[in-house]
Amino acid sequence: MEHIDAVARLAADLVRLDSRSFVSNQAVADRIAAELDGFELERIAYTDPAGVAKQVLVAHRGPTKGEQGGGVALSGHMDTVPDTGWQDDPFSGRIDAGGILHGLGAADMKGPLAACIVAARTLPAHLPATLLITTDEETTKQGARAIADRSALARRAAPRGVIVAEPTSLVPVRGHRSNIDFVAVAEGIQAHSSLGTGRNANWALIPFLVEMKALAERLRTDTSLHDAAYAPPFSDFNPVLDNHGAAVNVTVPKATARIKFRYSRSIDPTPVVQAVEAAAERAGVRLTIIRQGRPPETPADHPLVRAAEAVTGHEAETRPFGTDASELQEIAPCIILGPEVMDTAHSPRERASIARLAAAVPLFHRLMGA
Ligand SMILES: [Zn+2]
Repeated sequence: MEHIDAVARLAADLVRLDSRSFVSNQAVADRIAAELDGFELERIAYTDPAGVAKQVLVAHRGPTKGEQGGGVALSGHMDTVPDTGWQDDPFSGRIDAGGILHGLGAADMKGPLAACIVAARTLPAHLPATLLITTDEETTKQGARAIADRSALARRAAPRGVIVAEPTSLVPVRGHRSNIDFVAVAEGIQAHSSLGTGRNANWALIPFLVEMKALAERLRTDTSLHDAAYAPPFSDFNPVLDNHGAAVNVTVPKATARIKFRYSRSIDPTPVVQAVEAAAERAGVRLTIIRQGRPPETPADHPLVRAAEAVTGHEAETRPFGTDASELQEIAPCIILGPEVMDTAHSPRERASIARLAAAVPLFHRLMGA
């Protein structure tokens, strides 16, 4: 099959370069830039909240919108989740005798990203080829945010649609949930717990959490807060608690609750945000709210959705998870469509079939107008 060697070589090289979200992605960005001869390349640098240098890439070749109506851009992310649980080398980039690529990010999504880059490179030159290559997708979406806010090249290329090539087994996904993260911090006074002089921060956090439990139950049971177009129909409201390692004979000086709230396009998040704010106020805990872009949802009858359905033979679906589309929708309507499956992603068995990755290349070409 055409493109097999090019996809295999690039995908394996990308897996061999460590770009877990908490380290710099510079080496991966440089490796990709080396593939993009003949493209106009824009590098956008930023520093993540931990002070780590990051870089995202926008590449374009061929006519821009002013010249020819705008093309369909391809997008992927360079970062991966941490190598939790891996026994084998997560950065081996080994391709076995069955043509399976092994390693962290093989499916999510260095393999699909390699297919995007090969598709852009091999698209006939008279057609517009645009790549939006992000990082920090697995954490904050800050890379996609940087492209949406700052890319002059994306603005000039002005694509009419974006394919976010996350692994969907080549099923087009036209909408997904987005999230708001709440961080509630209660402060106490640290002392030996036997003395009676300290104050345990949990006593302030607990009344807040009781209200959060009621809110979570309401989101599950009140059907007026459901969206039947999604499975499950109720929003995700997931708390994680942290006493920052305090021992049981210490009055806890700091107690943190992090809550991820995922909601779909038709759900108004305002009443939930207000309820969390009011509960935090009542309990006297400090609240920080971190918002991603609003949930992306491209209408079922949009030409990009119709074209993706025609090319793949699958009806478009919705999904409960998030992608960079929450930010990239500001550039153009998005669909999520990529080779490989989520089954092994974020697991120590992550793998991707080179044949399946390469098979996505002609499919991308058709959606890009070839
Ligand atoms: Zn991904």
